Amino acid sequence: LTQYQAEEQQIPEFQALSHSFEAMVRRLSDAFSSLQEFNGNAAHEFRTPLAMMQAQLELYEEMPHPDMDAETVELLAMLKEQTERLSKLVKTLLEMSEMNTIERADAVELTALIEEVLADLSPMAEKRQISLLQEATGEVLLQGSDILLYRLLFNLVENAIRYNKEGGAVRVSAEERADTVEILVQDTGSGIPEADRETIFQPFFRVDKSRSRAYGGVGLGLTLVRKIVELHGGTIRIAESGEGGTTFAVCLPCGAA
Ligand code: ADP
Repeated sequence: LTQYQAEEQQIPEFQALSHSFEAMVRRLSDAFSSLQEFNGNAAHEFRTPLAMMQAQLELYEEMPHPDMDAETVELLAMLKEQTERLSKLVKTLLEMSEMNTIERADAVELTALIEEVLADLSPMAEKRQISLLQEATGEVLLQGSDILLYRLLFNLVENAIRYNKEGGAVRVSAEERADTVEILVQDTGSGIPEADRETIFQPFFRVDKSRSRAYGGVGLGLTLVRKIVELHGGTIRIAESGEGGTTFAVCLPCGAA
């Protein structure tokens, strides 16, 4: 029963109940907002020390000290694995805290961001002999959340590798127009049937359920992608590629603020 209905019907018990219910919802929502803000700030604070630890542990892995025995090398490898897990967790926390509003509008350089995503996904691509190609583009500045823009490109390229054939290719290009940039992520995979091109962005939708499940996907990747694109004032569509495979086209506002 809403407060309005309770007042309208002049039922004192309901009025009191609806007032206390409203107060409770307000308190819960305030508490949730502060928790979200706290999560975001805490995750930001964790980022730098974690990155430093990871870099140091990677260095040890590449150039182990001659005095290190096998046990120490093993221990350091385990530490590296755990810091990687922690970094992923921190990234997820940051993404969650930024999903409602983009509080920190960073200037994000697109070409470098694409490079970073392709480098992070190259081990996955190598396993399936898929080549990752980046078409040369000059400097393109986006305004928004570097964390979310990374996730947007990561999810698209990861899918382009995942739903590709062995020995296939993924090509990422960006074309700057007046005050927008169009990013294309093209693959040589199975393609997406015409009828599914809109539903594909809905939560838990998968074209080939058994195949997607085998990869451990749950069908939320593209939902998140579309939400991030919208948060940045852009659009996303599946473009015709003519030669099979899938092409995702993302259009985002660009240029210095
Ligand atoms: P997930 O990959 O976890 O299942 P997504 O939301 O990322 O979830 O993708 C939804 C579905 O869209 C996938 O299950 C897959 O069927 C299809 N899909 C996504 N990207 C591609 C692609 N590049 N090529 C072919 N199918 C794709």
